[in-house]
Parts: sequence; C-alpha cells; structure tokens
Amino acid sequence: MYVDKETIKRDFKKKLTSMFAEEVEEASNIHKYQALASVIKDYSAENWMKTRKHYTEKREKQVYYFSMEFLLGRLLMSNIINIGIEKECQSALKDLGIELRDLEEAEMDAGLGNGGLGRLAACFLDSMASLGIPGNGCGIRYNYGLFEQKIIDGYQVEVPDNWLRDGNVWEVRKQNKAVEVRFGGQVKPYFEDNRLKFSHEDYDPVIAVPYDMPIVGYHNNTVNTLRLWSAEPVTGEFDFSSFSKGEYTKAVEYKSLVESISQVLYPDDSREEGRILRVKQQYFFVSAGIQSIIRTYKKMGVPINRLDEYIAIHINDTHPSVAVAELMRILVDEEEISWDEAWRITTNTMAYTNHTILAEALEKWPVEMFKKILPRIYMIIEEIDRRFREELSRRYPNDSNRIRRMAIIRDGSIHMAHLAIVGSHSVNGVAKLHTEILKKQELSDFYNYYPYKFNNKTNGITHRRWLIQANPELSNLIDSAIGTKWIYMPTELRRLMSYSKDRIFQSKIGAVKYHNKIKLANYIKDKYDIDIDPNSIYDVQIKRLHAYKRQLLNVFNILNLYYQLKENPDMDIVPRTFIFGAKASPSYYLAKQIIKLINTVAAKVNNDISIKGKIKVIFLANYRVSLAEKIIPAADVSEQISTTTKEASGTSNMKFMMNGAVTIATLDGANIEIKEEVGDDNIVIFGMKDYEVINYYKNGGYSARDFYNNDARLTRIVNALIDGSLNVSSSEFKIIYDSLINHNDEYFVLRDFDSYVKAQGRIDELYKDSVKWEEMCICNIANSGVFSSDNTILQYSKEVWNTKSSLIL
Ligand SMILES: *Cc1c(COP(=O)(O)O)cnc(C)c1O
Repeated sequence: MYVDKETIKRDFKKKLTSMFAEEVEEASNIHKYQALASVIKDYSAENWMKTRKHYTEKREKQVYYFSMEFLLGRLLMSNIINIGIEKECQSALKDLGIELRDLEEAEMDAGLGNGGLGRLAACFLDSMASLGIPGNGCGIRYNYGLFEQKIIDGYQVEVPDNWLRDGNVWEVRKQNKAVEVRFGGQVKPYFEDNRLKFSHEDYDPVIAVPYDMPIVGYHNNTVNTLRLWSAEPVTGEFDFSSFSKGEYTKAVEYKSLVESISQVLYPDDSREEGRILRVKQQYFFVSAGIQSIIRTYKKMGVPINRLDEYIAIHINDTHPSVAVAELMRILVDEEEISWDEAWRITTNTMAYTNHTILAEALEKWPVEMFKKILPRIYMIIEEIDRRFREELSRRYPNDSNRIRRMAIIRDGSIHMAHLAIVGSHSVNGVAKLHTEILKKQELSDFYNYYPYKFNNKTNGITHRRWLIQANPELSNLIDSAIGTKWIYMPTELRRLMSYSKDRIFQSKIGAVKYHNKIKLANYIKDKYDIDIDPNSIYDVQIKRLHAYKRQLLNVFNILNLYYQLKENPDMDIVPRTFIFGAKASPSYYLAKQIIKLINTVAAKVNNDISIKGKIKVIFLANYRVSLAEKIIPAADVSEQISTTTKEASGTSNMKFMMNGAVTIATLDGANIEIKEEVGDDNIVIFGMKDYEVINYYKNGGYSARDFYNNDARLTRIVNALIDGSLNVSSSEFKIIYDSLINHNDEYFVLRDFDSYVKAQGRIDELYKDSVKWEEMCICNIANSGVFSSDNTILQYSKEVWNTKSSLIL
C-alpha cells in the first residue's frame, strides 16, 4: 500500500496527540517511536484483515509454525520497508525535525529467543509473508525475553529483559479468542454410547490469551499473523474477593503459578535445563495453538477428517513435539474419531525439524513428573509408544535392542524427539551435512525404518532484514549494477559475478564496506569509548557462547599473535580488530569464564602500547538482533570455526556472506554449502574433516596433552591460563585449563590450532592484495542468494507442507 509524506506527517502528529497529548517538540524519542509504530500498524491493519479473510474464503491450506522461540528483534524498520514507504517516512519525519534512525533506536528488541533457532523462526515468518504463503507463527508471549547482558569487571552479569515495560505497540490482545489449557488432576475412564471415554477432573485450569502481531510481507499486501500466548489465571472460580483466608492464600498461589508459565524464556541454547516449568510452557502454547487451529478450521465447515488437507503444523525442534499427542487427544477425545483415523490425520499434519545432534539438547522427560502434569497426554503417549513397539516387533521380530533404542518411553523417560519423528510425515535436518549425520548416526534406526520421512532443508536468512535493511548502501550499490530483480529473486545476485573483476565496481564495494566500518567504529566509540581503526581488518565472531563454537580457538590465535608481536613489534601484518559478541547461558560456568577470558585478553592487548595498536580485541556486550544488524555490514572476516559436525547449520555465516565478508571456517554445517557456492578460492577453510572428528569420537586416540606438550605456542598459551601472566588469579581460568588438559579437549581446540593459525595467515595475505580481496567479497555477495530464507521456505512449502502462494490483490 502507498501512503504519501503529508499523510504520514498528519497521522503521526495526530497519533502523538491521541496517545500522549504531546506535540512533536516536547515528545521523547520513545513516545515518538510509539506514535510512529502505531501509525505503521494502522497502515497494515486493513491488509491484515483482508489476508485473514482471503485465506478462509479461499480455504487455502495454512501452515502453523510452532516454536518456543521467535527472535524478532526490532520491527519498525522492517515493517516500514515491507510496506514500501521508507522514503516517505524518512522525509515526513525530516520535515518535523526527526531522524528516523533515532526512533529506530528507541525500540526494544523483541528478544524472545536464544539464538539461531529463534532467529530462523523470525526469518521464516518474514519469508512466508513475503511469498504470500498462508503461514502463521505460534509461540509464547514471554514477559521477559533473553536476559540483557552487562559486562562488569570482565564478567557477564544478567539483567532481566523487561521488553514490555513501555508496552508493545505491534501486538493486539484477543481476549475473545482465549482458550483453556488444563494441567494436573486425574483422568477417569467411563463408558458412554458404547465408547470408552475419559473425563479429566480436579485439573488446574490456565487461560491462554493470544496476542497477535502482524507479519508484513514485502510489497505484496499480505499480512500474516504471529500469535503469542500469555498465561492467565481463571477468574471466578478462585475469586480474590473470597472471604475465607485459606482460599485467598490458595488463590494467590494459583495466580502466581499460572503466571509463571509465560513469565520468562529459558536462557539455554542447546543445553537441557529447567524441568517442570519448561514442560508446562511447551504444553501450554501447543495446546492453546492447536485448540485455536481446530476452532478456526471448524468455521470453514469442512469435516474434521480432512484436517490434513487444510492444515500443516511444523514443529521447530523437539520443544513443541507434545503437539503430536495433543492433536491426538483432541481428535480422539473431543472429536470422537477412531484412533487409527486420528493417527492418519495427525501424522499427515505434523512435520518436524531437528536442530542439533548435541545429546544434551534432545529433550527427555521423567515419566513420573510428566504424568503428574499431563495425565491424559501421558496416557496417549503410552498408547502411541505401545502401538509403535508393536509395529517394530513385526518388522524386527528378533531385535529387541533396536526396539528399545527406538521406543518413545524407555527407562522411565519420555523421548520427545522420538515422539516427533513417529508422529510426523517429515523429518528434516538444517544443512546437508547435518541431515546426513542424522541419517547415518544419530537417527539411523529411524532412517532405516522410515527412509521416506527424512529430508534436508538448509536454513536461510531473510535478505530483506539482513541486506536491504541492515546494509542500505550495499543494497543500493547492487541495484545500480544489476537492477532490482534480485529483491524478489535473490539468486539473481549471481549477476554480480560479471562485476567481480571490475576494478571500478570493486572500489565501490570497498567504499561501502569502509563507510560501514566507520559507522561501527563511531558506534563503538560512542558506546564503549574505545577507538578502533577502520583500516584494520574487522574480524568478527558473534554467536552464543558455547564450547563447540570455539571462541576459545579464536582467543588462542589472538594470544599467539600477541606473543609474536611482543617479540617482533614490526611484524608485517595488517592491523586487526577482533570483535566478539556472545551471551552465555547463566548456568554455563565454562562459557562464562570464556567471556571473562576474552575481556581479560582484550584488556591486556589493548593496553599494551608496545604492539603499536596492531591488534585490538573488543567484546560488545548484549549481543542481539539489533546489534548484529550494526556489526555484520562492517565485517571483513566471518568466524565460523565450530568443531566439525557440531554446528547443525549456522545462519550468521550466511548473513556475513551476504554482506561481503570472507569466511574463515571449518567444513561444518552450512559452511560446506557456502564453500560449494563461492568456490575454494573465495573462502578460507581449515581444521579437521567430519570423518576425522567422528573417528576420534568413535575410536579415541586423541591426546590433547600431546598437542600441549609438543607445540611450544600451545604450551605457552595454555600455561597462561593458570600462571597469572594474564593479570588475574591463577585459579580464574582453571576450568578452561581443565577442560583442555584434564578432560582431553572435547572440542579439539588444540588439535585444530595450528591449522587455524595458518588459515588466519592466509587471510592476512589475501587482505593485503586488495584487488583479490574485493573480488572475494563480490563473489560472496553474488552467491549468497540461495541462502535467502525465501529459497528455504519455498522448499518447505513444496516438499513438506504442500502450501502455495496465495496473492492478495
Ligand atoms: C543469526 C543470529 C544468531 C545465530 O548465529 P550462529 O552464528 O549461526 O550461531 C544468533 N543470535 C542472533 C542475534 C542472530 O541474529
């Protein structure tokens, strides 16, 4: 839709008056942001209604993407860009003496996710809307998102993320669409009309209230919905005006128990934590989501046994896999469909994405706990498990071990990933290597039994946020070279290849990068009062802090360089700025100490004038989507250095590539596919191959101590962790030392060190040849189109969901 500048000015001023009774001159940036956001929301409102009506009237098949996490970041700019009124907004505000940039900064990130998995869900929503695919998000409206990270004395300190403090302009509370979700109590079987039925008694009711957020498609009039559920107590039954004292206390307890369900996002990334509350969170949004799907579906007047023709439910990682049992419960108990028919519908409706092979992240719940919280769901899972085992014993009559391995309930635990696999028609990994590992190793029994269910869908990123929005200068330069077709067809970026050796275009690419580097330097000066040199190489590692991602390897290379520079301050290297951003799970002590180590090394290196400023280390606190958008366009080098086989896909690797950074990487996750796209000359690869890692894990034979003893550089660096030379107590980094030497370096940091140092040397050499370097940058941008999440979503749509684009005119 189009809105002219004068209309925006008028609407904005009117909004400031109606919301805050303020004039432009007196309003704070927060109020101005809220007024503008509210105006933008108004502009998308009509299309939001139209889209919803269009989908139901046309009876389009809809997909519901169930995810515990949606890491949306800020929405003002992406909504303005997707509506298509960026220039108009900018100049309307300019007339009023306001910079759109300043209002952008007033928006709190919606940080309802930990990292890659949550950001993927957000990119997918953007792609579904932009492709006109009827796609809905379903999740939890956490009162507190991922914690805010402060760095105090080099340590991570967690502060609650009160993102709703000033309200959330984008959401609409839909009280009349609330549903009830039931926890605890007992299940009593009884007979009625010749049918075994179950009544659920003495349960604790929780009201799930939906808050809807518009997901605006790019220039296509489509506005999809993200529905986030909030847990509220039932009113009436436990009335606060109750006279009896005992009742009152119970009522207060009940209220806070209920509200705890949507209170806070669990701050773990691939680390299994939390227990009862997490099970409750999962069932809460899954049950609310499925109930609301069924209610909407029934309004279409199509018989319930055709649900799978009109609805696809996607399970984003194991977290929402209780959806399989919940849909069975509704079909069998409430719709009174036979078990077999309900199972056919359920498995045809559900699809599951696996996100990790890290064993600690495959959720298992103790039967005793689960059964108390969800007694009827437990019975259903038991029945699914019983029938599945029966099926297996027909197929593998003499292989009780295999049956045990594959069972859903085993050794007193419920294996949620198994439930998801058995209950879905599609199981996918998130990069080619990851899917192969699932098929051959982690899930090989299931692949053997259900080969047709397994497929790969390599992750992607929305090029609208990560290129058009985050890097407008680059985006405009691309337009000027190859036109704008790439915006709708990101693989068209390939046409940039014909400019890869064009010296004029190269220098323009270099100029855009340099400009972005100055912008980031200014931001860092402003926020942290540190000077960084825009002529240095910006070498960036931003991602969750986890041992497998190997920030430690990066630090070791920095220490190695530092020691070399101490000996030879005139060493001929391009100055480098090493930039880190990472949150560690609050309970993950090793990870938090690695943060302290990075800051300790930063203090040491940055304050040592003898190395003539050749290297600097910066840790940017509170890494989040809006910070990523500032860093990535300015990056020269993208650090993707996980232990091979451990990073399922990675998505920041794609964001960097699209912004013209050169990747230094192990052959892990989607790095492999990035290498296939850009070719060997445009990426720097190092480290062990997948089979080498797998061999070590299988057969042992790795001795971290040998590497430590036999490489003098490593001896010195590892000793520095405990000999006080980093100016901290010698016990500070003992845990890191132990993980390497006494626990034999599970992630092969010492094993890959030499290879990594050499690869960093190659980066230095390549950068010195600026013509070659610019060519590499262009090749990376040109070949990044396949990693647009539009591409990924089209594959899901065609091969998994059977949904189609439904354009609203
Ligand atoms: C893209 C993104 C991630 C994922 O990064 P990886 O390097 O792929 O782990 C995590 N956090 C934020 C804020 C992101 O934007």
